[in-house]
Amino acid sequence: MKDGDHRFTTNDAGIPVSSDEFSLTVGPDGPILLQDHYLIEQMANFNREMIPDRQPHAKGSGAFGFFEVTKDVSAYTKAAVFQPGTKTDVLARFSTVAGESGSPDTWRDVRGFALKFYTTEGNYDMVGNNTPVFFIRDPMKFQHFIHSQKRRADSGLRDNDMQWDFWTLSPESAHQVTILMSDRGVPRSYRHMNGYSSHTYMWVNGKGERFWVKYHFKTDQGIEFLTQEEADRIAGIDADYHRRDLFDAIKRGDSPSWTLEVQIMPFKEAEKYRFNPFDLTKVWPHGDYPTHEVGRLTLNKNPSDFHSEIEQAAFEPNNLVPGIGPSPDKMLLARLVSYSDAHRARLGVNYKQIPVNRPKSQVNSYAKGGAMRIDKVSDPVYAPNSKGGPKADPARYPEAAVWNASGEFIRAAYKKRMDDDDFSQPGNLVRKVMDNAQRDRLVSNVVTQLKNGVSEPVLQRAFAYWRNIDKEIGDRIAKGVKG
Ligand code: NDP
Repeated sequence: MKDGDHRFTTNDAGIPVSSDEFSLTVGPDGPILLQDHYLIEQMANFNREMIPDRQPHAKGSGAFGFFEVTKDVSAYTKAAVFQPGTKTDVLARFSTVAGESGSPDTWRDVRGFALKFYTTEGNYDMVGNNTPVFFIRDPMKFQHFIHSQKRRADSGLRDNDMQWDFWTLSPESAHQVTILMSDRGVPRSYRHMNGYSSHTYMWVNGKGERFWVKYHFKTDQGIEFLTQEEADRIAGIDADYHRRDLFDAIKRGDSPSWTLEVQIMPFKEAEKYRFNPFDLTKVWPHGDYPTHEVGRLTLNKNPSDFHSEIEQAAFEPNNLVPGIGPSPDKMLLARLVSYSDAHRARLGVNYKQIPVNRPKSQVNSYAKGGAMRIDKVSDPVYAPNSKGGPKADPARYPEAAVWNASGEFIRAAYKKRMDDDDFSQPGNLVRKVMDNAQRDRLVSNVVTQLKNGVSEPVLQRAFAYWRNIDKEIGDRIAKGVKG
């Protein structure tokens, strides 16, 4: 062993070990000695290698890259990350929702599209999906929704009956279910799908003017999908099909990219818009709000340690930088709380000190202590203080991303507007956007699920649900199931 040669094994304390192969025994055939601390350390570490799966979005893949601003949107936001010419390091994670961490990538499911921008003003996270809408609009139903997509209590099996029971009792799910059952329900790869903020966010410009925005990350690779038959076959051959595709593409230098476009609604227009623009089950029609290009996201670097860089990555939509704020979308408001709570439960309170989650800008917080704290804390540990500690600077983060609210404390649905209904937008999608071949595949995908374990009265409700979306499609589905 040469001086400076670091290729010799040590234990975790840095002490050289004498063998990678043999435990310490009393003679070659004798019992193992308790003093073999290296053996014990290896067994103990191994037993603790796994951390809890995310609940949901457990199976995912990620990569690093950058976001470059290509157009000038400074009239709408002052966020440093979106100023002309700015280039920002990014971490992306794509995922399925319902499956566990070893589940096949090609199961029909919505895909997560989570981004962390390491901006000069702190981390900015967008935790989106590959679809512009969601199944529900009130967070009270979220846990129930996820339970219905996961496994039964008795058998531990996934269950189409449970899934369709929830959906057909929740008509607000119709838009997302239509997209899920369409070609977009199984992308060819993570590279061949769009990402959407889905939620509406607020942008604030340098003059303090406010706008509502929706983000669309359009794949530069083009949208491509797998048929149900292709997806089923691949699931049996290569459960990691999408993970492999992303990793291999980046490894060979074929860096995937997405063009960010935003829809922008002037602040005041939201009050009078014909449907609730904050309802997560709706899109803003392109005809009403065309998209504006902002920049390009490119992924060009694979993780070198999947566990520390992707499994431990913690995205949280509450990470909003100056110039970007939340909206009255109830689902978003709940997610601003639940994500960071999930990370504290799964990774520990100091998860932002794990290198992949660490901001590249300065952190001057008053947080101290907690399990696995790595950054040293110095006095003073309280504010206000007269000991030279950091002071909040309202000029750096004016609370400009705000709106007015008043009313009785109440549990109720959003107030209905003229065009608020659950079935028009999915109906338009089926009738105006899809061609005949897409409609045929939609019917086939739904029939296959309904024939596989869905019982009465859920089945009748499913036919009615689809007839509400589109009479002809509903009739075809009923015929396909009964025939
Ligand atoms: P447009 O004709 O302007 O937009 C239709 C959009 O549909 C396309 O731009 C494409 O979105 C998207 N699309 C195409 N095939 C599918 C599919 N199988 N599943 C989901 N989306 C698909 O009309 P509108 O803006 O008036 O929207 C009509 C319907 O299109 C909506 O009710 C909604 O269901 C769907 N849609 C609309 C989006 C929007 O933001 N307005 C976004 C996505 C879907 P993309 O360009 O993003 O790939």
